[in-house]
Amino acid sequence: MSANKVWNECLQFIRENVPDEIFAAWFRPIKPVSLNGNVLTIEVPTNLYYEWIETHYIDLLRTALVKQLGKHAQLKYLVRMTNNPASRHKHLEYPGTMKPKVDTNNYAPPQSKDFKNPFVIPGVQKMRIDSQLNPNYTLENFVEGPNNRLAVNAGKAITKHWGNTSFNPLFIYGGVGLGKTHLANAIGIEVKRLHPDKNVLYVSTEKFTQQYTSSVVNKTRDDFIHFYQMIDVLIVDDVQFLAGKTGVQKIFFQIFNHLHQNKKQLIFTSDKAPVDMRDVEVRLLSRFKWGLAAELKAPDYETRKKIIRYKLEHDGVRMDDEVVDYIAHHVKSNVREIEGILNSMIAQAAFNHRKLDLNLAREIVANFVRNSKPIYTCDTIQRIVAEYFGLDVAALQSRSRRREVVQARQISMYLSKKYTDSSLDQIGTRIGKRNHATVIYALKTVRDLMDVDKHFRKTVLELENMLTGL
Ligand code: ADP
Ligand code: MG
Repeated sequence: MSANKVWNECLQFIRENVPDEIFAAWFRPIKPVSLNGNVLTIEVPTNLYYEWIETHYIDLLRTALVKQLGKHAQLKYLVRMTNNPASRHKHLEYPGTMKPKVDTNNYAPPQSKDFKNPFVIPGVQKMRIDSQLNPNYTLENFVEGPNNRLAVNAGKAITKHWGNTSFNPLFIYGGVGLGKTHLANAIGIEVKRLHPDKNVLYVSTEKFTQQYTSSVVNKTRDDFIHFYQMIDVLIVDDVQFLAGKTGVQKIFFQIFNHLHQNKKQLIFTSDKAPVDMRDVEVRLLSRFKWGLAAELKAPDYETRKKIIRYKLEHDGVRMDDEVVDYIAHHVKSNVREIEGILNSMIAQAAFNHRKLDLNLAREIVANFVRNSKPIYTCDTIQRIVAEYFGLDVAALQSRSRRREVVQARQISMYLSKKYTDSSLDQIGTRIGKRNHATVIYALKTVRDLMDVDKHFRKTVLELENMLTGL
């Protein structure tokens, strides 16, 4: 075998696995130089090539090479130093086949100084990224109904009439478990199916926030921004968590503007409509309203039946109509709950030899309803607590150290922990921009006081009863 032949085989394989423009810009200029046993030496035009390939395509290259030369295959680079005629060639050894995979999800900051930004190399606009989409959340698996039709059709329109809809951003909002994450993912998957050359990225707001924070710490903020600026379809889940985070909002705004100006598609989900979002910069909120805000509502009875039938069919399980009707009739608030009930029933049938009949459905539904905690938001809880104590919500959120205010604030935190899905950080942010240590302290204080102070205990229990409706 000759170096030429081996390299040509590798190129074939690489070509099938990278976008055309990447192939043309980065791989075609490479020249095979020599083959020495299992060591292939290739010549690349500049140092930049070597580093770019090492950073982004080493896995692919390794696979290609191992196919040709076996698992001990090695690669050596010869970098032509055109700017230094005295030493025309410089050898750089390939650093072994076990280099860790680049995690595109963490927008890999470049490794070396003279390799600041791989994403704005002239002539190359694209590199392929891992979309982080959940392959199970497809449109085929999403049952349509009057409750979600607008959002579904808007999503389909975006994928079919690429760049020609005014649904940008598409802002999908609605309560817990109504399919926001599923639908946003499904749109991303559909884009990739119809437009394989588009870079789609799904990211939760929390992950985005973490990435931003660590980019500030690591001084790679620019790389962070550049990474996001090269996305064609950016899906950001649960943007309500941007609330109160001014630094992240600024970056988000900047990325939004860049993508929007370049006619890239933005898809956001949130538990609230843009008009109801608090602690988010006005200019960002106004951007959210530019496109289409589509609400996901709770499914109606017929749609609930369809969802149940669909899930059963998917799991290959048979269930009588009367049982399906019973579940659809009793479980109204969200789809996640419907799934939970079906799963419990199927588990009972599988492990305890129960029949999937009305009796089992009754038992499990009753159990579910008893155990499911009401879903509140920190905002609702603050309002209820403030009203109870005859205070303003603004007072709860203020810096006031008045005993009565402090207690009401701490009780709000305690109830938020118990009756919402919010994290400690989120609770702190919502209740007067406190940090999570303050929240931990509040929870402990409330518990301790409930132990020693009967009157205080009664107050908290009364408030809890108001929430649970007992
Ligand atoms: P959200 O993000 O709004 O809280 P999810 O997208 O996580 O809700 O949905 C919760 C669960 O319900 C998921 O397992 C999802 O697949 C399912 N689900 C929601 N809506 C539908 C639907 N219309 N058809 C099928 N499954 C659905
Ligand atoms: Mg979700």
